[in-house]
Amino acid sequence: MKSRIILRQLLSHKLNQINKSVYKRSLCPNFISHHYCTNEKEVKEYETPIDRIRNFSIIAHVDHGKSTLADRLLEMTGAIKVNSGMQVLDKLQIEKERGITVKAQTVTLKYFYDGEEYLLNLIDTPGHVDFASEVYRSLSSCQGVILLVDANDGVQAQTVANFYLAFGRDLTIIPVINKIDLKNANPERVVNQINSLFDIEKRDIIKISAKNGTNIDQVLEAVVERIPEPTVDRNKPLKAFIFDSWYDRYRGAIVMVYVKEGVLSTGDQIISCCTNKTYEVRSLFFLRPDEEKVTKIFAGQIGCVICGMKTSGEAQIGDTLYSKGSPVEALPEFKRAKPMVFAGVYPMDQSQYISLKAAIEKLTLNDSAVSVTRESSIALGQGWRLGFLGLLHMEVFSQRLDQEYDAQAVLTVPGVTYKAKIFGSKNIAKYRGDEVIFSNPSDFPNPVITQEIFEPMVLGTIITPDKYLGDVLSLCIERRGKEKSTKNIDNERIMLQFILPLNEIIIDFHDTLKSISSGYASFDYEDYGYESSNIVKMDVLLNGTLVEELSTILHCTKATEKGKQMCKKLLDIIPRQQFLIVIQACVGAKILARENLKPYRKDVTQKLYGGDITRRQKLLARQAEGKKKMRMIGNIALPRETFIKVMKK
Ligand code: GDP
Ligand code: MG
Repeated sequence: MKSRIILRQLLSHKLNQINKSVYKRSLCPNFISHHYCTNEKEVKEYETPIDRIRNFSIIAHVDHGKSTLADRLLEMTGAIKVNSGMQVLDKLQIEKERGITVKAQTVTLKYFYDGEEYLLNLIDTPGHVDFASEVYRSLSSCQGVILLVDANDGVQAQTVANFYLAFGRDLTIIPVINKIDLKNANPERVVNQINSLFDIEKRDIIKISAKNGTNIDQVLEAVVERIPEPTVDRNKPLKAFIFDSWYDRYRGAIVMVYVKEGVLSTGDQIISCCTNKTYEVRSLFFLRPDEEKVTKIFAGQIGCVICGMKTSGEAQIGDTLYSKGSPVEALPEFKRAKPMVFAGVYPMDQSQYISLKAAIEKLTLNDSAVSVTRESSIALGQGWRLGFLGLLHMEVFSQRLDQEYDAQAVLTVPGVTYKAKIFGSKNIAKYRGDEVIFSNPSDFPNPVITQEIFEPMVLGTIITPDKYLGDVLSLCIERRGKEKSTKNIDNERIMLQFILPLNEIIIDFHDTLKSISSGYASFDYEDYGYESSNIVKMDVLLNGTLVEELSTILHCTKATEKGKQMCKKLLDIIPRQQFLIVIQACVGAKILARENLKPYRKDVTQKLYGGDITRRQKLLARQAEGKKKMRMIGNIALPRETFIKVMKK
């Protein structure tokens, strides 16, 4: 079988070289390919019949081998040379360094099967929970998915989440077990897990090694045989769906479209349903993975459009494009990625404000999930409050700022958005409605007028080997989780569902879970709305003066512990001064913790050479008197670094 495929690939390559459509037509009667030359390069038109198109994504838990499988598929279909390097679709520097996929990537492949040429559009997706929205939008242009599971690790939390994403959209699912070459791999156990959890027939599961290239041909065959052709109509007016966009410095916004109806051609006048703006299509291309210019994108195909959109605000993901003069109903927009975690971002030094601003503006063009609002703080100056999908997303963003735009920023401790219901709000001009939304502690509403506070919740899924169950349960309970369900995956693994406050999981939940389970447990979460909760604002007082920047929002049960930690931390980092500094943490009027930062003590008795003890006492008393005065009038000079150290993660 394998040799037959290779033969086909060779044949196709030869045919391409000969480049005579007559040959092709005689081989594949339905295949129509027009070639003609323009001034620049050869521009082609591929009117692939609809039944020869397959659009699919690879979805899996982090590190189960999606990008590696994508590499093999690219090699097998001749899109790249063998040994072109690892994870070729991970283009960003950060993706290469960290070995993770952050942005979904699409690639168009040619595949010969049974003497017919097929057009395969493959989308490699990120696995981490922060980037679930990337998976979500990728699936909007697919008819099927390859669900990849590691033969060693088995089904993990994101496998379950991804399965239900695809299942809920009625997509064809091709189950594939990867890494069968590993010494400890146990494909049979994983077959049973997939079978019992997802009700998938055992005989439908393909076992491969993406690394060694074992059985990749079976995956390609399954894609052609099992995934249905796209349900599209080429005879209707144009209807194209934007499912990805990015910003190119020279060409402006580039949008990736899935043409659902009609044909998109260069020179067309197209209109966006979202903005009603008209554009002229300047150029069209496929990614194979290099750009290949085409003159037309036919319904069922996926390709890129350059049409003079200046900003990514114009190139909105989820938008529908149509031809001027023949309006269509917009395709249903999918829900946008919603920022969950918020943090202040400030320049290292105010002189870098302008350059950081430019960098953030450019980067958000390529990462539309980030929300930006202006913010200022007395200690850190002018800055922004950015919303991210999760902590990894935030780290990736700040690393990209540094790497791609050479802009270093100070990021404050991330927090979530709370909602508060206000009493008698009509009388208070600041609070127009009944509800205030806030994430910054300085916006915390006055408790006197606050009726109730709500905090964001998530539904977390944890898969763990049962020997760590006890530790995992106590972690979830300590993080204020409520158990929703438990299910045995097989006789060793358990799947738990917990409702947890988002605030408790964003910082270190995942790391703690990994460390208590020796790396075996996995975690995924989804939005679960808001719940009423006893949330308070904890303030820090230095010699009785409130320092606004050091306030935090937290649950009342965590306040005392956090207050003690905070005072200890400040004790270490505030530089000692000539006078005593009392560091206190409090909620309202209640003091929760206190530390004393001892002053420098000048040895005023140094000059004494014996003599009466009262002389000594007199000198010390005078010193104490002086310091007392200093403490009352002394303004504590806190260096910027202190704030940065406290507020930074
Ligand atoms: P992704 O996060 O799902 O995209 O996973 P990657 O493709 O980045 O792969 C994660 C790691 O698994 C990399 O170190 C790969 O080299 C490794 N890997 C992928 N496929 C195989 C395989 O079939 N066998 C073995 N032994 N390792 C693999
Ligand atoms: Mg990847």
